[in-house]
Amino acid sequence: MEHEMTIDEAAKKAEELRTQLNRWSREYYVEDKPTVEDYVYDKAYAQLVAIEEQYPDLITSDSPTQRVGGKVLAGFEKVTHDIPLYSLNDVFSKEELMAFDQRVQKAVGHPVAYCCELKIDGLSVSLRYEDGQFVRGATRGDGTVGENITENLKTVRSVPLKLKEPMTIEVRGECFMPKRSFVQLNEEREADGKDIFANPRNAAAGSLRQLDSKITAKRNLDTFLYTVADFGPMQAKTQYDALEELEKIGFHTNREKRLCQSIDEVWSYIEEYHEKRVDLPYEIDGIVIKVNEFSLQEQLGFTVKAPRWATAYKFPPEEVETVIEDIEWTVGRTGVVTPTAVMTPVRVAGTTVSRASLHNGDYIQMKDIRINDTVQIYKAGDIIPEVAQVVFDKRPKDSQEYELPTHCPVCGSELVHLDEEVALRCINPKCPAQMKEGLNHFVSRNAMNIDGLGPRVLEQMYDKKLVSDVADLYKLKEEDLLTLDKIKEKSANNILTAIDNSKDNSVERLIFGLGIRHVGAKAAKILAEHFGDLEALSKSDFESIIALDTIGDIIADSVVTYFSNEEVHELMNELKQAGVNFEYKGIRTSQLEKVESPFKDKTIVLTGKLTRFTREEAKETIENFGGKVTGSVSKKTDIVVAGEDAGSKLTKAQELGIEVWTEEKMAEALAESHPAEE
Ligand SMILES: [Zn+2]
Repeated sequence: MEHEMTIDEAAKKAEELRTQLNRWSREYYVEDKPTVEDYVYDKAYAQLVAIEEQYPDLITSDSPTQRVGGKVLAGFEKVTHDIPLYSLNDVFSKEELMAFDQRVQKAVGHPVAYCCELKIDGLSVSLRYEDGQFVRGATRGDGTVGENITENLKTVRSVPLKLKEPMTIEVRGECFMPKRSFVQLNEEREADGKDIFANPRNAAAGSLRQLDSKITAKRNLDTFLYTVADFGPMQAKTQYDALEELEKIGFHTNREKRLCQSIDEVWSYIEEYHEKRVDLPYEIDGIVIKVNEFSLQEQLGFTVKAPRWATAYKFPPEEVETVIEDIEWTVGRTGVVTPTAVMTPVRVAGTTVSRASLHNGDYIQMKDIRINDTVQIYKAGDIIPEVAQVVFDKRPKDSQEYELPTHCPVCGSELVHLDEEVALRCINPKCPAQMKEGLNHFVSRNAMNIDGLGPRVLEQMYDKKLVSDVADLYKLKEEDLLTLDKIKEKSANNILTAIDNSKDNSVERLIFGLGIRHVGAKAAKILAEHFGDLEALSKSDFESIIALDTIGDIIADSVVTYFSNEEVHELMNELKQAGVNFEYKGIRTSQLEKVESPFKDKTIVLTGKLTRFTREEAKETIENFGGKVTGSVSKKTDIVVAGEDAGSKLTKAQELGIEVWTEEKMAEALAESHPAEE
């Protein structure tokens, strides 16, 4: 800050920033209509943090800085719900659904309209607001008594900390984990040797019941709100209008809802979403059907257990049987040894499946999975094939309990359990499987992006002792490559050129490529931008790393440990001598504002064949000029650059009336762009 602010100025500025940040956040997470680029948000956020650090008294409960979590609880307090959360009666067939409609019609004396909503597979929560401020969040519990999880719910970005109106209101809905976050979380956990979550609902529940809200903050949870405990302050007379009203006052609601005039329309809706469910970004397990008019709901009332005016249609679980033919064990980059079931191919939820991860030895033992067992499989989060259970009735008579390996399938060294891990690990640092995985990772697209070095080629190089670590790649000569299978002069030269080109990469690619535990591509970028080069990063300490926004103690610890290793410094020397760039070449967030470019703040889709640039080059350049490159065309797209043979994306852009540029036009726009000055 240029001058010292008085407390009054600071208070005013903080209030402005809070309002603005909360609005941007709502636009992004609730309304799905982002209006500013991340760096604009980040900058305002940093300003607010600076003010709050100087004047801690100015921190309010609706400050976005309160979303990162921090307080660690000793346990969860009990919360009594003044108005209990009801549960719904389930129906499982069209007949049962029709019978429900018959009962409703009989009770009210005429046909009724229904509001249909997706049944999100998450955890029911209740959020309380006083004068528009979020004051308490609780789990459903048994419907009457739940647990206070306010601190954790604050970290969920779509939960408004402050409503648009100063209402006192209690709303209910579902807190869930989107499929993508679920898959990512499980991948990370598996690589870290931890237990995985069976489905997004368990993952959401596990995340919400963390005593340390910082952990919850990292889990990318989301919410859909669908009901109000007491409609007192609201105008709506129907469920459909209530959903619209909830959205208006700032809650995230699900937009797939539909008002159906008859039970036949309800059935069409059910069939439609039974098909669509696989493609939704979150998991659903059925459809909730409510009599739309509140006055009719009141007339129908409740049974002892549930409302008479609503029901939940449950989709049949998508589980199929197949046979486990074999269990394969593979060694990952960090030495975790993972079992995979090889199964007789079978169709489930839209695709043919023949392999499923069995995660770890405990998992196999817990489910008592054996070779030749018939098992039921399903897709977790509609994506990942999982073994639900063994069909014991079909187990062959001569079946033998599966014996877990005791030694690495590749190098033969003894496998161990580290700390509290469930995973088996090969801890031999020279284990060829790990070395090969490390090489594969180094050349991969988000790392050094070296084309032509597929797993087969790398494996041969390693086995022929041409390459034992990543620095050796830079010492390869044409005659070395020609000793490999299927590599002729031309491809050898292409590989050498690709390796040579990778030396110029901005350093975040190298940092990611080194394979430091827990350092993903995103963290690598943050570290690269902050420290500027690899030497500086290698000399940094825990405190300076953890001071960075979004870098936690696990990453910081891992980075420091990595660079404390003498062998790493030898590797760095070799890379340096080979001429590999150690500097950050990307643009800094603070500089982006000074960029002048037709791409700035624009969302761009590249499609068709480009002749002057590779996709990667075009993407990187546009991003350096403050643009964002995305994969699919939507209403949010500003420009579509169409190269040769552009297909459906071009058609879609034309339908939506989005600006379409030729590659020449893009080249001109790039020529007009001015980078930020140093
Ligand atoms: Zn090994």
